[in-house]
Amino acid sequence: MRLAKRMDLIKPSPTLAIQAKANALKASGLDIISFGAGEPDFETPDNIKDAAIASIKAGFTKYTAVGGIDELKDAIIDKLKRDHQLDYSRSQIVVSNGAKHSLFNLAHVLFEEGDEVLIPSPYWVSYTDIVYLTGAKPVVIKTYASDGFKLQPSQLEDAITSRTRGIIISYPSNPAGICYTHRELEKLAEVLLRHQVTIISDDIYEKIIYDDNKFYSMASFSEEMKKICIIVNGVSKSYSMTGWRIGYAAGPEDVISAVTKYQSQNTSNPSSISQKAALEALRGPQEGVEARAREFQKRRDVIIKRLNEIPGISCMNPQGAFYVFPNIAAFFGRGFNGKIINNSSDMASYLLEQANVAVIPGADFGHDDHLRLSYATSLEQIEKGTERIREALLKLR
Ligand code: PMP
Ligand code: GLU
Repeated sequence: MRLAKRMDLIKPSPTLAIQAKANALKASGLDIISFGAGEPDFETPDNIKDAAIASIKAGFTKYTAVGGIDELKDAIIDKLKRDHQLDYSRSQIVVSNGAKHSLFNLAHVLFEEGDEVLIPSPYWVSYTDIVYLTGAKPVVIKTYASDGFKLQPSQLEDAITSRTRGIIISYPSNPAGICYTHRELEKLAEVLLRHQVTIISDDIYEKIIYDDNKFYSMASFSEEMKKICIIVNGVSKSYSMTGWRIGYAAGPEDVISAVTKYQSQNTSNPSSISQKAALEALRGPQEGVEARAREFQKRRDVIIKRLNEIPGISCMNPQGAFYVFPNIAAFFGRGFNGKIINNSSDMASYLLEQANVAVIPGADFGHDDHLRLSYATSLEQIEKGTERIREALLKLR
């Protein structure tokens, strides 16, 4: 059947595609270790599961308001106040089916043909394709390992044109785990404010942050900044709730009202049951969030050490999220059994075939010299998987 041309603009999400492939290989009996999709391996906490069960039993199983129930909006408002001293009202909050859905809806109400949307790289795989689907042009600003993969204010200044409508920025970042200091963000904010660039700030990894790094929301810098900022967040990563599909956006009323209208014509409300679960996640005890972040930090320390011990690999220490982004360019041009590895995709295939280890090619994040590994898996798997990678890389001549 003839498909709409816009389908040629995008590819399937590579993170989800590789995870599906790894799962299929596992199901066929192969002993696959997956560093693929970024999904916490922890169970959703019991208090959250219980809230969902209670909501089903209470018959809370019907349509809700399109943009989410008031109690959940209030919990989000309180969270933003508690964490960032930001004041929002219910009309400035919309709850969607995951942060990905919030980002998708926002892009569609904000951007169109002729617009340019800035995306610092390495970027999360879905940002560029979401922008393509709106008809706008993603303008990738390449950041460098020598700058700690941090966007520099001068790069930002150079990338802004009369067509620039927005920027999608995320820290701690997926895939490099980059965090910005308050001072660094202030400098970026100054440029964005001067040019009135709409900021979509994807804060999904806000709570998974290491060492002495702190998360700062640019929306909290000033009233003027708040007016150009839209915060996106969700419960997937902080509360191990990837399957529940609850994300949200907070921002200027006109934008949020447009997202709610748009959502009313695509998905309607996010699942009523998941909304009650998310309400418990945000209102219930928060100690587990910090405990899981500390556990991720332990895993980071092990995976970084193991990878950097492999001759030819260099890997920056991530400051948050649960990914490492090693440089593997030293292996390009080398091969095994007549198969030469020339790029990150060849390397990901080689590791899957030779080592039974699933990783994501860096090219999907805009940096072909790298691989992305998610360490949201057990220490035992990390030890075993990195050993397999070491053995496979030592075979390359
Ligand atoms: N933003 C980033 C940077 C992510 O890595 C992900 C992946 N889960 C998302 C958004 C989407 O999260 P959600 O599960 O809430 O859709
Ligand atoms: N965001 C996660 C990742 O980057 C989950 C998969 C996805 O939605 O892309 O692996």
